[in-house]
Amino acid sequence: MILSRKVQPLPLDQNQRMLQRVAVVGAGAAGLCAARHILSRPTSFAPPVVFELSGNVGGTWCYEERIGTYPNGRPVFSSMYRDLRTNLPKEVMMFPDFPFDPELSSFLSHQEVQRYLERYCENFRIWPHIRFDTAVENVMPISMTTEDGESKVTWEVTSSDQTGHRKTETFDAVFICSGHYSDPHIPNIPGIQNFKGTVLHSHSYRFAEPFSGQTVVVLGAKASGLDISIELVKVGAKVTLSHRNPPLTVPLPPGIQQACCVVAVQDDGTIRLQDGSVCQADVLIFCTGYNFSYPFLDSAQLGLEIQNHVVSPLYRYMMPPAFPSLIFIGICKIICPFPNFNCQVQFALAVLDGKVAVPPQEQMEEAVQREQQRKLEAGVQRHHLLKLDRDQWEYCDSLAGSAGFPPLQPAVRSLYEEVWRQRQVHPENYREFNYRLVSATRWEQIG
Ligand code: FAD
Repeated sequence: MILSRKVQPLPLDQNQRMLQRVAVVGAGAAGLCAARHILSRPTSFAPPVVFELSGNVGGTWCYEERIGTYPNGRPVFSSMYRDLRTNLPKEVMMFPDFPFDPELSSFLSHQEVQRYLERYCENFRIWPHIRFDTAVENVMPISMTTEDGESKVTWEVTSSDQTGHRKTETFDAVFICSGHYSDPHIPNIPGIQNFKGTVLHSHSYRFAEPFSGQTVVVLGAKASGLDISIELVKVGAKVTLSHRNPPLTVPLPPGIQQACCVVAVQDDGTIRLQDGSVCQADVLIFCTGYNFSYPFLDSAQLGLEIQNHVVSPLYRYMMPPAFPSLIFIGICKIICPFPNFNCQVQFALAVLDGKVAVPPQEQMEEAVQREQQRKLEAGVQRHHLLKLDRDQWEYCDSLAGSAGFPPLQPAVRSLYEEVWRQRQVHPENYREFNYRLVSATRWEQIG
């Protein structure tokens, strides 16, 4: 049910222009990017209110050695591990309008990315607009009638601060920038309770030393599965990398052997694989991804399906057709994240600002369906519908074309693709190279 209220007047700027009020949920890279662009449009938007449940900006990049929960019961959010280095070079990872420190090498530690995001925040004067230690608990659409008799949706955002004090405020639009790498997805493995060793998800993996000399089965061979396996063998662990894909052809370091899927843990605690073989292990690490989780949204009310790694329907991967003033930033996977967020935010603000018109609800729904159908017919599995991969470039270009901001430079795409290739060939040492952008279309390797 959508509540209906009488509309409240919009705030005015000093020239008596009406300004839209925008809430941003989360002060990770996506939320900071949203705040930065809202602040740069002072004739259309009041300064945003950025709600951040932790005490700092950075989200994923704010490393936390502790696992589990904080003393106040709040779950640890970041899935960052101590020795992580970025899997994209800074030349493509950066927000296009804010380069990393030129002194840094191309592949960065998480501390360097965290410092970058803090600098971004300072540079664009975002800090004063962030409410730290404040969790958004509920975001609810309210149907309004303006004085001209027009109907309009606004949003009631309820948040609670450190002391538990709750507050409800009204906004014209809400950016959902709460990330999707903090709610571990653990597949159902029959008999898992029989396993006698340690079981953890990569969300709670911090460093390799505790696993030195142990036999470890890592489930999942995507970025984290590969990275963690490589870290583990460096401390003398024996790793079985179990995954459902055809065997990886990449050269893996000695000490990592590949295996097919784990199908069950037997009564005696041994692990049964899909090919019928059985193995023993001291540790099972699930590198099996994360669930989308928006406990502050009522998905049925919003007409959204949020399950099985899919949030749908989202027009242009951002807006529920029934509520285009609710904007999800950064929901796509297999993308170049910061540049992608930068395009999404600018497009969404152009929509809110009235510079870009979105079609009526029904047409948005049809557009989402057509796009999903195209992917399904091309063989994409339903739970991968939010993976953009090669489509990401056309997607970003089309957002830029519609909203009239500069597209991503071709060099970003070609360097991203080159590094992707290098990762397949040298998973262990592709980060030893350094790059430089020479022009909008050219990059070079500099050692
Ligand atoms: P997050 O960084 O997750 O930020 C979300 C923020 O929202 C958090 O600060 C959180 O506290 C806040 N929040 C959540 N719920 C609420 C609430 N209810 N109320 C208030 N605040 C809330 N990307 C790259 O570009 N290069 C890499 O090398 C790379 N490596 C990665 C390695 C790992 C292990 C992981 C997990 C991700 C990696 N990524 C990488 C992807 C990375 O997640 C994105 O780059 C980006 O940081 C995501 O930003 P975000 O703002 O969408 O989400």
